[in-house]
Amino acid sequence: MRIIETIHDLNVALAPARRDGKRIGFIPTMGAFHDGHLALMRRARKECDIVLVSIFVNPLQFSAGEDYDRYPRNLTNDNRLADSVGVDLIFVPSVAEMYAKGFRTFVDQDELPTKLCGEHRPGHFRGVMTVVAKLFSICRPHVAYFGLKDYQQTLIVKRMVVDLNYDIDIRTCPTVREEDGLAMSSRNVYLGPKQRKDATYIYKSLVYARKMIDDGETSSSRVISEVRRILRKIKGSRVDYIQIVNQDTLEPVREIKGKTLIAVAIRVGKARLIDNVMNQ
Ligand code: AMP
Repeated sequence: MRIIETIHDLNVALAPARRDGKRIGFIPTMGAFHDGHLALMRRARKECDIVLVSIFVNPLQFSAGEDYDRYPRNLTNDNRLADSVGVDLIFVPSVAEMYAKGFRTFVDQDELPTKLCGEHRPGHFRGVMTVVAKLFSICRPHVAYFGLKDYQQTLIVKRMVVDLNYDIDIRTCPTVREEDGLAMSSRNVYLGPKQRKDATYIYKSLVYARKMIDDGETSSSRVISEVRRILRKIKGSRVDYIQIVNQDTLEPVREIKGKTLIAVAIRVGKARLIDNVMNQ
């Protein structure tokens, strides 16, 4: 596995693969790898000739007061884990390499980024889209992999790829969970032992909601009340949102019929955690 820090070196490293028509699979990440990241890498390993992973904690997608400075960074361990699942190239650019002096161009989108997390993290998705577009331009992959834990992000990226005519196949992978159901996240390290235990109520509340819907409940507000009741068990937490939305538009639904997404964002101590399930 090769570790590459500059765009120039990445182009040189990928040139033979491009010339030989090899299929490049790409996984953009912010590092601090867990099994959720590794699942994306393993899938790319199966489906592509070259597996390229980027690690970049993107300052543009953090607002003031968020955790950019203390976001976990552990490059040595990340390299070891990526190597163990057969990654070929790790691209670890510096902030200056990604955002050269004078950088002024941003990618934005109407509608989807204003929903769910967009209401609580102003500018977040603009930062995500800008960095993902740049990484797509730099890496020029054939396929790119994203996790459904960040469901809204997957929809926004799919929309962006169509709108900006990137010839990239976007594939999504299911949320990987700890044994007790908590969605794996680099931010779980912020949780103290009690918070970590309580955090299992997040997935429990979503499973409960899905069960209510499976059993015939059609009122979003009744389901959301039950989710809120379960989330109250998490000491010192503050709910950002609990929403039941259309899976394509992310518009809240009042009456549940057909496919919906049940999505939660909650602050537990220093961690802001998100999770979601689909009822179908
Ligand atoms: P991050 O490093 O958190 O920006 O995530 C990089 C990629 O890994 C994104 O596509 C995430 O959706 C995906 N990812 C993060 N956590 C999980 C998880 N628990 N299961 C599946 N994919 C995940």
